Amino acid sequence: MEMLIGGAWRPAASGRAEDVTSPFDGTVVGTVPVAGAADARAALDRAEHGAVTWRRTPAFERVKILMRAAELADERAEQTAQIISAEAGKAITEARGEASRSGDLIRLAAFEGTQLYGDTLPLDANRGTGLDKLGFTIRQPVGIVVAITPFNYPALLVMHKLAPALAAGNAVVLKPARTTPLTALALARCFTEAGLPDGVLSVVTGPGGNVGDALVTDPRVRKVSFTGSTATGQRITQLAGIKKLSLELGSSCPVVVLPDADIELAASAVAAGGYVNAGQVCISVQRVIAHPAIGPDFLDALVPKVEAIRTGDPRSSGTTMGTLITRAEAERVERAISGAVADGARLLTGGERDGAIVSPAVVAGVDPRSSLSQDELFGPAVAVSSAEDFQSAIAQANGTPYGLGAGLFTSDVAGAVRAIREIDAGNVHINWTPLWRADLMPYGGLKASGIGQEGPRSAVAEMTDVKTVILHGRPW
Ligand code: NAP
Repeated sequence: MEMLIGGAWRPAASGRAEDVTSPFDGTVVGTVPVAGAADARAALDRAEHGAVTWRRTPAFERVKILMRAAELADERAEQTAQIISAEAGKAITEARGEASRSGDLIRLAAFEGTQLYGDTLPLDANRGTGLDKLGFTIRQPVGIVVAITPFNYPALLVMHKLAPALAAGNAVVLKPARTTPLTALALARCFTEAGLPDGVLSVVTGPGGNVGDALVTDPRVRKVSFTGSTATGQRITQLAGIKKLSLELGSSCPVVVLPDADIELAASAVAAGGYVNAGQVCISVQRVIAHPAIGPDFLDALVPKVEAIRTGDPRSSGTTMGTLITRAEAERVERAISGAVADGARLLTGGERDGAIVSPAVVAGVDPRSSLSQDELFGPAVAVSSAEDFQSAIAQANGTPYGLGAGLFTSDVAGAVRAIREIDAGNVHINWTPLWRADLMPYGGLKASGIGQEGPRSAVAEMTDVKTVILHGRPW
């Protein structure tokens, strides 16, 4: 398969290509070009022209093209789901859920692209300015957006960047994760076949280090929208120079279970929220902080639900949890779990590895200062620890470098309000876990979890610049 360079499907300049393989059984799912810095520059050359064309295209015309792309994404949802499942090892039912969101996300973003309102400035309220001037703001596309995406939601996270960037009138160069480029290429076809002008969209497949550095450092790029690990995000902040940055980074999301919580509800929610996509979700439940009065009941309710999760061939509709992205990642997660156990935690279920699959694990008695709590796991295990009172539970929830999502289970509104105010996370859920997202909501992390917010309205705002205009009349 070829990559998309500003409207033309091309191999890499070097001629190099590589296989994309299934993490489940190693079968070859497809072949993609291995781009280098020259390909990245070629995409940016095309994007320079594309950005001018697209910016001069009225929003009314842009929205028509995006609506056609949304229809194509809907029509091809099953095909996209099969690609996601094959290259990411995601259970097919989850892959279908992910793929089905693409069309709606394009439509939500397309609408936001028609809402680029500005403000009228009440200049006469400024001492000495008078009534002879008119001031207002207009929004315009930033120009060229570089989008860099991770492997874990190869359709959804690509769409959360492409759709708003295009809706706002920008040219986009996308660098998808090396393990999951096929989904991104398939989605890009929806836009090109819908009539997106040449130059407006490129998808450059290749290694993050090489291609990523070339894209991020190029002065023609006005905005980098990155989703991935905190370590890569850190590197991007050091290299990018004067550009707008959105960084959706790592996490170690907590769930606090207070003594007055509905234990059955909390256990059911954690049994989903800790293991969706084999725990490879930035808003996955990694830590549960339970009051000692209800801790044992919570674990009794949680463990059988986790044991009911069925691992296996991602293509089978009977499988509810697929693989990790690679065998090496599965080995890392296995080591993290066994390391916690060696340090005194109790493994209540799971934690065994078969190839790239790790059976869903519950680890109790975890020290909140340990690596299993502090470092992002990105795997199918939940670490349970205890906190004696509300204050220490919140302190523990806040006690990592991250701040992406958090959940709190309680039946007391006063406790919920206090937690909402005191938990340092970009998304706070009361009586659910952080693993919940409506695509239109603002979504982003605090602390080491990132900068900026996604969601169509927020992303369109961040992918536009505001210009202040003053019309100078004469005093009369
Ligand atoms: P990653 O290793 O940081 O990779 C993310 C993307 O960055 C990939 O496309 C990667 O390319 C690219 N990349 C690597 N080095 C680069 C560089 N020097 N310059 C520019 N780009 C570079 O992350 P991942 O393992 O794919 O994804 C998992 C991480 O993403 C987790 O930490 C997770 O929490 C985070 N995440 C966060 C959110 C959120 O909303 N906050 C959502 C999803 C995932 P290659 O694949 O070619 O290396």
